[in-house]
Amino acid sequence: MTEPLLCELSAPGRRGVRFPQPDVPLAELPRNLRRERLPMPELSEVDVVRHFTRLSKLNYCIDEGMYPLGSCTMKYNPKINEETARLPGFANLHPLQPIETVQGALILMYELQEMLKEIGGFAGVTLQPAAGAQGELTGVLIIRAYHKSRGDLQRTKILIPDSAHGTNPATSAMSGMQVVEIPSDARGNVDLNALRQHCDNTLAGLMLTNPNTLGLFDENVLEAARLVHEAGGLMYGDGANLNALMGIVRPGDLGIDVMHFNLHKTFSTPHGGGGPGSGPVGVAAHLVDFLPAPIVDIIEEGDEETAPLYGFVTPSKTIGKVKSFMGQFGMMVRAYTYIRMHGPDGLRAVSEAAVLNANYLLSKLRHHYHLPYDRICMHEFVLEGVWPDVPEVHALDIAKRMMDYGLHPPTNYFPLIVHEALMIEPTETESKQSLDNFANVLIKIAEEAHTQPELLKSAPHITPVGRLDEVKAAKELVLCCGVDALEAQPA
Ligand SMILES: *Cc1c(COP(=O)(O)O)cnc(C)c1O
Repeated sequence: MTEPLLCELSAPGRRGVRFPQPDVPLAELPRNLRRERLPMPELSEVDVVRHFTRLSKLNYCIDEGMYPLGSCTMKYNPKINEETARLPGFANLHPLQPIETVQGALILMYELQEMLKEIGGFAGVTLQPAAGAQGELTGVLIIRAYHKSRGDLQRTKILIPDSAHGTNPATSAMSGMQVVEIPSDARGNVDLNALRQHCDNTLAGLMLTNPNTLGLFDENVLEAARLVHEAGGLMYGDGANLNALMGIVRPGDLGIDVMHFNLHKTFSTPHGGGGPGSGPVGVAAHLVDFLPAPIVDIIEEGDEETAPLYGFVTPSKTIGKVKSFMGQFGMMVRAYTYIRMHGPDGLRAVSEAAVLNANYLLSKLRHHYHLPYDRICMHEFVLEGVWPDVPEVHALDIAKRMMDYGLHPPTNYFPLIVHEALMIEPTETESKQSLDNFANVLIKIAEEAHTQPELLKSAPHITPVGRLDEVKAAKELVLCCGVDALEAQPA
C-alpha cells in the first residue's frame, strides 16, 4: 500500500534525460572536487511522474474536501488567484530591478497596504512578515521599540490569555519579554480582575486574539484595552481569526494598536504546500514610524502629464528589516486578487457566511457532544471529544475515525484550556450539503463511540498507515535507508 522511495524504485542505467553532445571541448573536473561515491536514483521521467502522482493521491487537500482545522481558516483557494500570480509581469520580476521597471507591482503592494489598513482600521501596514508568527514577532518588537523610544525601559511584561495560540508566548519570549498568563473567565473572555492586577508600569502590552481560540467574541475587549492603555501598555491583536470580522468590526476601532493579518487564512492564499505564508502587520498612527523597512509609498507625486512614482521608504524609527527583500510577493498578488474579486460588500458577506456556517454546524452537533462554553459562536467552535459514560474514547479516536469517512479531522487538543478539545472551523466556502455530511458523520461517530468503541480505538482503517509510533519515530530516526537501498543494488 505504501509508496516505495525513489531510491527503491531505481534501476541501474535507466535515464530520464539524454544530454546532447557538447559543442565545447570536454574538460576534466579537478580531482579535489570529484566525489568517490554519489549514489543517486536512476529513473525514467515516467517513473518519477508516476511516483509523485501516486504520492499526491495519498494526500488530502482543500480541493478534495472540507478541511475543518479550527484557527487555521482552511478556506478554498480560488483558482483566479493562481492565474493572476502567474502573470509573467508578476511572476518573472527580480527583487533588485530598478523601481521604474516594476511600477505595476509596487502599485499592487501599495494598494494592498491601503486595503488592509481599511479592513483592519489601521494607519500603516507592512507586507514583509512571512507568516502570522513572524508578524507577531514584528509586532512585539514594535511594541518594545515604542516603549524604548519613550525611555520606558522597565516595560517588559506581556500578558497573554490562557486560550492563546502557542506562537503568542513564543514570539514574546523571543523578543526578550517576560510572559504572564492571564486566565479566561467563565464565559471564555479574558478575566478582567486578573488583568487589572498586572496593569502597572512594567506592562508592555496585552496580546489578545479576538474572536479568541474558543471561537468566542471577547466581550471584554473594550474594557481590557482601556485598562491596558491607562497603564501605559499597548494592545497586540492576534488577527488570525479576522475571517469572522471583515466589514463588520475593525480591530483598530476596538483599541488594537498592532495586529498581524494571515493572508493564508483570511485572504485565501495557500497554506504550506501550495506556497509560503504571509503575515502583514497593521499599526495605529503612533506606531507607524516603527514599522519595518521598506514600506511602499508614492515617492514623487504625479501631475497631468506624468503618473506618480511608487518606491520604497524607510520609517524614521524603523525596527529594521524582518524578511529578505519585500516579503512573499506572490502571496500579495493572490490576496490582492481575492480582495478585489470580493469588494467591500463581498468581504462582509464572507465573514457573515463563515459565522453562519459555524453556528449551523454547532446547532447540529451540540446535542451529541459536550460544548464547554455555551454561547453563540463566531466562525469556529470547540467541543469536548469525550463522554462520561465511555471514558476510554478520546478526541484523538474521534479524529482518527473521521478519516474512515473521508473527512479531514478538526484541530484537536487545542486550545489547551478545553479538555479533549475538538476545534471546528468550517469556513464560508462549504455548502449546506457539505456541512450536513460533516455533521452526520460526527453524529454517527458519537453513536459508534457508545455502541462499538473499538471501531474508534482502532481507526483509521483505510489509510496506507494507521497510528504511528511518534516516540519511536523521534527516537529511532532512520534517514539513510534510501542510500542503503541503492548501495545494495548490483553495480
Ligand atoms: C495560525 C495562528 C497563528 C500563527 O500564524 P502562522 O501564520 O501559522 O504563523 C497565531 N495565532 C492564531 C490564533 C492562529 O490561529
